[in-house]
Amino acid sequence: MRRDTTRSHKTKQPRSKKAARAAEVSWAAPITALKGVGPARADTFAAAGINSIGDLLTYYPYRYKDRPRLHRIDELTDGQEACLRVRVTGKGSNFYRGRMRMTQVPAVAMAPQQDSALPLEDAAEPRITLRWFNQPYRAEQFEPGTELVIVGRMRLRGEKTAVVVQECERANPDPTGSPGLGIGKLVPVYSKIEGISPTLLRKLIRQALDTCQELPEALVPPELASDRGLMSLRDALWQTHFPDSGEVQEAARKRLVYQELLLLQLELARRQRAVKVPTTGVGLALEESARDEYVGALPFELTAAQKRVLEEISADLAGPEPAHRLVHGDVGSGKTVVAAWALYCAVRAGKQAAMMAPTELLAEQHYRTFCALLAPLEVQPLLLTGSLPEPTKAQVREHLAGGEPVVVVGTHALFQPAVQFSDLAVAVIDEQHRFGLQQRMALAEKGLRPNVIVMSATPIPRTLALTLYGDFDISVIDELPPGRRPVQTRLLPDRKRKTALKLLVEQVAAGHQAYVVCPLVAEGKKTDAEAATQMYESLQAELAAFAGGEAAALGLVHGQMRAQQREDVMAQFRAGEIQILVSTTVVEVGVDVPNATAMVVFNAERFGLAQLHQLRGRVARSGAQAHCVLLTASKTPEVIDRLRVLEETSDGFKIAEEDLKRRGPGEMVGLAQHGLPDVHMAALLTDTPTLVVAREDARSLLEADPSLDAPEHRLLRRALQAQQPTDIKWTV
Ligand code: ADP
Ligand code: MG
Repeated sequence: MRRDTTRSHKTKQPRSKKAARAAEVSWAAPITALKGVGPARADTFAAAGINSIGDLLTYYPYRYKDRPRLHRIDELTDGQEACLRVRVTGKGSNFYRGRMRMTQVPAVAMAPQQDSALPLEDAAEPRITLRWFNQPYRAEQFEPGTELVIVGRMRLRGEKTAVVVQECERANPDPTGSPGLGIGKLVPVYSKIEGISPTLLRKLIRQALDTCQELPEALVPPELASDRGLMSLRDALWQTHFPDSGEVQEAARKRLVYQELLLLQLELARRQRAVKVPTTGVGLALEESARDEYVGALPFELTAAQKRVLEEISADLAGPEPAHRLVHGDVGSGKTVVAAWALYCAVRAGKQAAMMAPTELLAEQHYRTFCALLAPLEVQPLLLTGSLPEPTKAQVREHLAGGEPVVVVGTHALFQPAVQFSDLAVAVIDEQHRFGLQQRMALAEKGLRPNVIVMSATPIPRTLALTLYGDFDISVIDELPPGRRPVQTRLLPDRKRKTALKLLVEQVAAGHQAYVVCPLVAEGKKTDAEAATQMYESLQAELAAFAGGEAAALGLVHGQMRAQQREDVMAQFRAGEIQILVSTTVVEVGVDVPNATAMVVFNAERFGLAQLHQLRGRVARSGAQAHCVLLTASKTPEVIDRLRVLEETSDGFKIAEEDLKRRGPGEMVGLAQHGLPDVHMAALLTDTPTLVVAREDARSLLEADPSLDAPEHRLLRRALQAQQPTDIKWTV
């Protein structure tokens, strides 16, 4: 931040006498406190989320456009958009032209600036006619001699010059008048509010700025503001809505972005402090020998990244504060063994541990994996999913309530009120992005401050990680097990379906297995399950025909099958008895069958990029070269472009960023749903540097004043309270 640009900017004060006389309004006052806003308009504003003066002032433009510079009349051609300075020379008159009312006002064009060094040709001021349609009052509006700045369209007919005026204002505006056209300046562009014209919006914003005496300046404590070289809030708001120049507007933006991110990060830091309260009874320090035993029993060597994350988790678990960690790693990076370690730590210390997965399919798979991983260590995990028979469930619940040291894997069935843990010390949540916060909370509340570890393969850009998981410590598994090769991915139009089938047949012939993923069904039509069943049947016929009679063994799995049935199919697929598994997106998360090396996805355009990346992650689970064909019916260039990203890169982070760019962070983030302050100005993808600074500042601020008691933090405290953090309950 260049301080000089901000400092040199002089503070704009309420400028008009009229405004000074107008009633003062406060930031929190309802918008009806403004002149010109009655109940009807207030309703219109309310529909756009604007209720108070503060809401109006933080209704920021989403972009700016440049105003044209002033033209010289002799450089303009017929039909061109002109921006001219003119002087009215006489009274106007009204005519009818067809059904239209036309008003003409005589004027002369002036040099662009009064003191222009470039006089017009003969120093004369050429006559022009100002023309309006259906605004008869214009005829009487201007006294002869009035100077105007106009924007309009040129009409040159022989010697006659007219301008059809689109916008006009007095050249030397009376300060109480309408906001200027801002010739040569940036003009803000706002999202349209139905029923409120841009001009009215600007007038009201100006009125609010003029009459609102007390702004919440202290949202950024003065000392911080000066350390960070930030402009005052008042200046920043003025310069955002009525910028003097691009440079100052940028400085203004910086202040507003910082302020939003500071609030956001304060809330997150506060949550983290709430969790990180030292407690007794959760410290799970294990001797080194325990880790050696665990690692020694694994069927493979851990990657360096996995080892590092294992260390990080061990340190968390040994510490006096409960862990609150996000383990972040691309599909196939090997998060499961890391989770198993955390679970093992708990049972080894004589406590209980739970792992929650978003689908029954995945819970069942984890259960099997944990059985294998923990068997040598003499730990027998339990499974708890909704579709198990009631007696089995009752038995598991008994174990949990009885206080035995145990590892349980399950779906959200783990949250049912009937399930009581007597001694939950570690809770791991896999594929956490698939869960709502409520569900996370419910599990964590089952134990007294358990260690919480959440895992996600959705590679979110760092900025978003810092935002959404700002209250978590973050571990990254940024390395794949050795020998993994990126999935060769091809995007093909639907009519190349044969090529896709050929791939399946070839892979099966080579002794491998494959997935066929059916499209998500458009709403109101048949269910995903029905679509998958249909696909299964038609593929069976097609593949048989294709392979000359000797068909591959097909299987079908979807979310609406009974657990036992699904488990049977998966067992057959794992055993290689089923060669091609037709499925809905239930295989999206976590399913792990290393011999599967090919995937065909139908109607790929119906999926998000990150989701497709997850899906194809199913076939990159061994050293063999894996293939993925994405079929699409779409011919839309943007759609094709988007899908091509998957052909080009296998870097999950890049893919997530592309997704984010195209879908917009709003859709992906939903701050309010997380009980976090919303941002209006900040761009979570690009304002990373400010975010990082704000995060540091938020943390040191709380360090110095944990409950924000200092008078200079009063406003911050209030703002955070107003945020109604309904769902931070799970942290206490
Ligand atoms: P994800 O991070 O997507 O959950 P998984 O934990 O399911 O990944 O691991 C993917 C596959 O890689 C599994 O088959 C697992 O056994 C295997 N794997 C994990 N870590 C290693 C390793 N260090 N070396 C070799 N294979 C590994
Ligand atoms: Mg996984």
